[in-house]
Amino acid sequence: MRYCLALLCVLAAQGPVTVGSTRAEWSKPDVSWSPSRPIQGTIVQFTLRPDRLGSWSNIVAVEGVLEDQPLHFERAHDGHFHALAGIPIYAQDSIAVELTLWRAAGAREHLTRYVPVERGTFSVAQLRVDPRYVEPPDSALALRIVAERDSVRRVVQRSHSTPRIWGDRFVLPRDSRVTSGFGQRREFNGEYRSTHMGLDLAGHVGAPVAATNRGVVVLVSDFYYSGKLVYLDHGQGLLTAYLHLSETFVAVGDTVGRGEPIGRVGASGRVTGPHLHWTARYGAVIVNPRSLLELDVSFLTGGS
Ligand SMILES: [Zn+2]
Repeated sequence: MRYCLALLCVLAAQGPVTVGSTRAEWSKPDVSWSPSRPIQGTIVQFTLRPDRLGSWSNIVAVEGVLEDQPLHFERAHDGHFHALAGIPIYAQDSIAVELTLWRAAGAREHLTRYVPVERGTFSVAQLRVDPRYVEPPDSALALRIVAERDSVRRVVQRSHSTPRIWGDRFVLPRDSRVTSGFGQRREFNGEYRSTHMGLDLAGHVGAPVAATNRGVVVLVSDFYYSGKLVYLDHGQGLLTAYLHLSETFVAVGDTVGRGEPIGRVGASGRVTGPHLHWTARYGAVIVNPRSLLELDVSFLTGGS
């Protein structure tokens, strides 16, 4: 859901406004993001830097919201505040980020910025399938699918309350060919069916799958569509998942390191053949996992 609170839109037009204080001399903090025009369905990094007048020093905390998801700003060794966010694949033209700066005296300052969003290039796959494969599931199966989605929703919500435990760059879960890209539009028998919200990597049954960064195992299960799967919580809303496995090596609660084997490629769930489906999310926003590989982690301190 995109939203723009009318009050905050007005504030954005007028520039920063102080709340709870009569002091008006605070100057505009520098809010930037990288990349400067993020593509639909990718991760973006926000940075707040000191302003020229030095009023920065009395900011003790920064909060933010983008697409209903809280942002987790951390103060880095350089004194700047940094946070990640997810740009939804359906974002059009621009998306609002709402920021709250907390001053030392308890005063707040609200800011709204509009992040320009670059249109992504997504392929279309036209598939001819036997009509019985596109029939809706019966009621028992529908209940199972709803319960499985709920269990994902729970681990996603919890991730906003867990600390970041990674501090190095993300890596691929396996070094192999991409067989189906993120955002691919799938049409069955000429009708739109779904959008592919992950990245498919080639692999034969039994080929190794590794954790793409340090994380805590929060879900190991066998889902109707996704097959055997592992979800890793990297903290502060960031999760990765590994689907259609033939075997899993980890249990809920385990902490795994970057590059550590967590399972094997398989063809479990509803698939046409063995491969790894790798997906990433910032909270409820599913993003292209490739965008994690490009994150600049130089500002991170003490994450691992
Ligand atoms: Zn896939």
